Amino acid sequence: MLLSFPAIPQLHPSSVPSAHPLSIPSRPFRSEATASSLFFKHNSALGPPYNVLVDTNFINFSIKNKMDLVKGMMDCLYAQCVPHITDCVMAELEKLGQKYRVALRVAKDPRFVRLPCTHPGTYADDCICERVRQHKCYIVATCDTDLKRRIRKIPGVPIMFLQQHRYTVERLPEAAVGGAPRQ
Ligand SMILES: [Zn+2]
Repeated sequence: MLLSFPAIPQLHPSSVPSAHPLSIPSRPFRSEATASSLFFKHNSALGPPYNVLVDTNFINFSIKNKMDLVKGMMDCLYAQCVPHITDCVMAELEKLGQKYRVALRVAKDPRFVRLPCTHPGTYADDCICERVRQHKCYIVATCDTDLKRRIRKIPGVPIMFLQQHRYTVERLPEAAVGGAPRQ
């Protein structure tokens, strides 16, 4: 049923920075077309204010780059963004100890929404993957190559990361962006 979802104009599925959104291959790869369909089927929940699920290294890299997370997210998406953090990620930050106390303080900012974990295990990457698989209302913010690779296999989940001192998002269809110019 999902596969018969009407063809949607290709919406910039892989977010190659140099690719213009309208430079569409006439025969897109089938997997990408399917991903777009799934995106719209499941992901009407994705729109401003954006729920951004952050991981440990996203917070750490942001601090290193002297970025305010909420402001950086808004500068990226031109819309209100609400950072979310799971118990597992919080526990990971706590375990990292004194050196990461700034990260911990950022994560405890009242602008962050805390997502309680009820699952077994405490591995933060699994926690994030499982959550976005079940609830397709998040953008995952990570700079971790392995986690990015895992998230890309899940249809309809955009990824935010740090590039040249600013946040960039990939796999967010134009339709879900509030008229924001994109690179
Ligand atoms: Zn968890």
